[in-house]
Amino acid sequence: MRCTRCGTKAVYHSLYSGHNFCVKCFLKNVDHRVKTAINKHKLFDTKDRILIAISGGKDSQVLATILSKIEKKFPNVTLMALLIDEGVPGYRDFGLKRSKELCKELGIPLTVTSFKELFGYSLPEITSIAEKKEVMLGACTFCGILRRRAMNIKAKELNATKVATGHNLDDEAQTVLMNLLRGDVLRLLRLGPKPVEELPGFVPRVKPLRYIPEKEITLYAYFKGYPLYEVECPYVRTSMRDEIRFILNEIEKKHPGTKYAIVRAADKLSTMNTSFKVHVDTCKYCGEPTSRSICRACELLEALGVMT
Ligand code: SF4
Ligand code: ZN
Ligand code: ZN
Repeated sequence: MRCTRCGTKAVYHSLYSGHNFCVKCFLKNVDHRVKTAINKHKLFDTKDRILIAISGGKDSQVLATILSKIEKKFPNVTLMALLIDEGVPGYRDFGLKRSKELCKELGIPLTVTSFKELFGYSLPEITSIAEKKEVMLGACTFCGILRRRAMNIKAKELNATKVATGHNLDDEAQTVLMNLLRGDVLRLLRLGPKPVEELPGFVPRVKPLRYIPEKEITLYAYFKGYPLYEVECPYVRTSMRDEIRFILNEIEKKHPGTKYAIVRAADKLSTMNTSFKVHVDTCKYCGEPTSRSICRACELLEALGVMT
């Protein structure tokens, strides 16, 4: 198998494009597709203060690497990174160590915070209180809501103008399907490549890896020699996302290009959605922006009786 671009020995065949790649051309091609997505969807301005959500996993390592390459051409852009530790014993330790190493290597200042610091409780403490109080929500629901809240609080503290997350094509296709299965039409209409409108109090979140399949992110990290997590979060197998991941992978095997088609459908839906406006208020407890009188994070913490 020969590289379609340069004719040397190929190491990867892309089923959906039909191209073969050598290591060098593969890395270049991924960089190029990320840059194209950034330009096409105008994800950043030339003066942005970009906060990278880093976890130490493959996606955020690849995101930080590609953004730091791009940043070199834009001297007025500032890159920063934020790691949020949920407090799951034995899980985040690797990610924290790896994030510190990589940020040092790339010259990106890293801020570390935790659920404990911001909300008074770690994720395992929250899930055990939820069990006792019979609040029937999965760990990933708490984790996702509190993580988004933590990210927005810290982004504002750090004067960030954008938050960049490492969500890849698989994550995005799963999210679209999950919202469809839950019948959450409003959220479905807001799953485009960047926020439809700027909302007061929210630092906009963008996803530069949105069109890169998870498999290619893993390969990118592997070819770069990046160490990867050997343990997974103990809660991952209990999530609905995990079931959707399995289903989507099965469909993709039989019909290559399905994940991409789902994400493109979400892109189109988000542009059709011109008359849809979100009303933004401030949470009466924490002052963070919300479309209701109490934000989702405070609602959860209140239900558990752990509001600080
Ligand atoms: Fe959080 Fe769930 Fe991911 Fe674990 S698997 S880090 S609980 S969202
Ligand atoms: Zn090549
Ligand atoms: Zn609140």
